[in-house]
Amino acid sequence: MKNDNLERTHIAFFGRRNVGKSSLVNAFTGQDLSIVSDVKGTTTDPVRKTMELLPLGPVVIIDTPGIDDEGELGMQRVQRTQRILDETDIAVLVVENEKTAVDVELIKVFKERKIPYILAYNKSDINYRQFKSEIYSISGESKKGEPIGVEGLQVSAKTGEGIHELKETCANIISQRINRPLIFDLVNAGDVIILVVPIDSAAPKGRLILPQQMVLRDALDCGAIPITVKESELPRALDMVNVKPKLVITDSQVFAKVNEIVPKDILLTSFSIIMARFKGNLTQAVEAARCIDTLKDGDKVLISEGCTHHRQCGDIGSVKLPALINKYAGKKVDVELSSGREFPTDLQRYKMVIHCGGCMLGESEMQSRYKKAAAADVPMSNYGIAIAHMNGILDRTLEVFER
Ligand code: SF4
Repeated sequence: MKNDNLERTHIAFFGRRNVGKSSLVNAFTGQDLSIVSDVKGTTTDPVRKTMELLPLGPVVIIDTPGIDDEGELGMQRVQRTQRILDETDIAVLVVENEKTAVDVELIKVFKERKIPYILAYNKSDINYRQFKSEIYSISGESKKGEPIGVEGLQVSAKTGEGIHELKETCANIISQRINRPLIFDLVNAGDVIILVVPIDSAAPKGRLILPQQMVLRDALDCGAIPITVKESELPRALDMVNVKPKLVITDSQVFAKVNEIVPKDILLTSFSIIMARFKGNLTQAVEAARCIDTLKDGDKVLISEGCTHHRQCGDIGSVKLPALINKYAGKKVDVELSSGREFPTDLQRYKMVIHCGGCMLGESEMQSRYKKAAAADVPMSNYGIAIAHMNGILDRTLEVFER
């Protein structure tokens, strides 16, 4: 299977109250992740757990409150459950006997959002049904590479029936997702590529950040020959290799310096531009970069990062990028920061959004953020693309994708 990348797949369990969702989550994970009770509505807030789960790899499992919860508090829970849809890569819809109107409505939402889903009929030990499960494709027609799921898997949290099949179905969907190219379509086996990783005081201690790890792993998977250096060692590395490197991938914050060092006949891009393409947002992010040229004094710019607690990309979003925007635009813009799962709902307040590579966020979450910005008519770009634009090298950094 291609690419054991470190991006975690978010698998969310949905369903009405009392259909045995939490028991199924516990059977699926082999752990007591969720409290199980016969009392309706025991799960009051989404429960998340990050884990390695065979044969799925790194995942985040989310148990959600009943989608049919009632009353004022219940409605708030339903809203929180609906927000989980933004980060869902695979949905497991748990039903007990027949699909209700609530389930049918939820399936409609999965299809609209193109979320692969598995319809799991729970409690097969007491309600065995005479039907076969059906494989479906999201669009209704089988397209190559399109995520598919299963409607009508029979499972029992009590006896374990169907749990293996449920995991296998999730694994199949994941294997299609991780076949998206990071760099394996850009380089060939034997190509030398140079990765430029600045190690300054803002870099996390003792390790590489996730986009760097992902690209390095992908390069090794491809059989390419990656050489990783700091920008200060880049001239020496270029002198030492006696074959022309195919590609240089740099951290965006040293784009200007690296652009001067790397000869023009060697392709150059950045980790965050690679991530924008990987998450499917490259075109929108490139178009949005032009908005920087129109910024005026006092315009609000949202800089958003996907890290939940500690900013892994150092001070690029909080210090370097705001300074570069003000210098480039010759204006004093009002920069606001958001991080982790916080992503403002009132995006129309901003003139533009600039997002990090989002390596900690699932594809669905990133797509959902770009869609929200588009719906609010607010241009949304990406760190690497914005920095390349402000350094006048955007065309050069996109050339690698045009070959
Ligand atoms: S989520 Fe964003 S800020 Fe955090 S490590 Fe990934 S690219 Fe950097």
